[in-house]
Amino acid sequence: MDLGFLLIVSGPSGVGKGTVCKDLIESDKDIVFSVSSTSRKPREGEVDGINYNFISKEDFETKIEKGEFLEHAFVHTNYYGTSKEFVEKGINSGKIVLLEIDVQGALQVKDKHPEVITVFILPPSMEELERRIVDRDTETQAEIDKRMSNAYKEIDLVDKYDYFVVNDNLEAAIDNIKSIINAEKHRVVRKNNIKEEYLGGRK
Ligand code: ADP
Ligand code: 5GP
Repeated sequence: MDLGFLLIVSGPSGVGKGTVCKDLIESDKDIVFSVSSTSRKPREGEVDGINYNFISKEDFETKIEKGEFLEHAFVHTNYYGTSKEFVEKGINSGKIVLLEIDVQGALQVKDKHPEVITVFILPPSMEELERRIVDRDTETQAEIDKRMSNAYKEIDLVDKYDYFVVNDNLEAAIDNIKSIINAEKHRVVRKNNIKEEYLGGRK
């Protein structure tokens, strides 16, 4: 079995992370999506256990105390966190565990585990980013303003990431992420017993 790894995708709200990640999971059986927990209320169409585990603020704080999160952050007035158990199980079974998390969480994980792969999705422009959030029609104007002001702070940290991908044309952005994943899959360190497989002990 090849070794699994953690792939973190971040980027400002509305840049297309959800859209891109959905395609990646559907097109590559080696990828499993880490469903985060959040204290935010579900948006229309979001399903508990699929998009997020929607829990109360109190339950979230209990899980923090119990150390159940690999990382957690307070983003746009809500808690979000990644299950430590899910990530460990996925990697140990050879999967690519995909985390769609914010910059604070991504940097916490990268700090503790420098081997994780981090990808930052950028919008073609800030104007287009705002247009996408407005067109998605899931946030109030105050929430949109908050997300836009956060977007500037998040993009300021892009240089902490391993890779960037611009989501202008969706298919091209997905292809670029697939190329990154493909390259990472081919790192020699991830291939168990590669020498034994070919040499069988002979030198
Ligand atoms: P995020 O998960 O980053 O908040 P979403 O995946 O919800 O973003 O995308 C925000 C909106 O932008 C959605 O309405 C989505 O359909 C749209 N979108 C995503 N990628 C593109 C793209 N390349 N071009 C135009 N619209 C896009
Ligand atoms: P949204 O409310 O739009 O679904 O997500 C808001 C932000 O929270 C996004 O930047 C998203 O990537 C981030 N996020 C989602 N899940 C997690 C998580 O488990 N941990 C952290 N740190 N951020 C998360």
